[in-house]
Amino acid sequence: MRDENCIFCKIANGEIPSSTVYEDDDFRVILDLGPASKGHALILPKQHYKDICEADMAVTGKILPLAAKIGSAMKKGLGASGFNVVQNNGTSAGQTVFHLHVHVIPRYENGPVMVAWNPGKAESRELEETAGILKNALAEELFTEEK
Ligand code: AMP
Ligand code: ZN
Repeated sequence: MRDENCIFCKIANGEIPSSTVYEDDDFRVILDLGPASKGHALILPKQHYKDICEADMAVTGKILPLAAKIGSAMKKGLGASGFNVVQNNGTSAGQTVFHLHVHVIPRYENGPVMVAWNPGKAESRELEETAGILKNALAEELFTEEK
């Protein structure tokens, strides 16, 4: 499945050149053009999926193991001391390219500093109420998937 208007389809399938660090039948891993830190990589499935909800589990199941290898290579090769694996779904979550991709962002002792979320506060009653709502919605999702 490809989308003719999708830039990541073109990059993943080699029609547009990129700084490729890895390629196999399912993925191309490239360097981000606007890196958050040196070596910021993007895992691009060769198939077009808008986001993780649309994607085939046979493909998504391979992404975390691949991200782990890339992160380890960032430590060995680039001297990173850690790395983040980030995946945005939807505009409100910061997704700007609507072809599933996973960021692997190396982190270094000397920065750059990146903004994370500010931990909030929640009463236990609120946590329980939210957990109850989510639990029911998730059970429905899982049930629908099984059918
Ligand atoms: P997201 O905000 O999660 O959708 O991430 C999109 C990422 O793709 C951003 O970090 C961009 O810098 C990056 N990006 C956009 N176009 C290209 C491109 N042609 N080559 C490499 N990275 C790109
Ligand atoms: Zn695409």
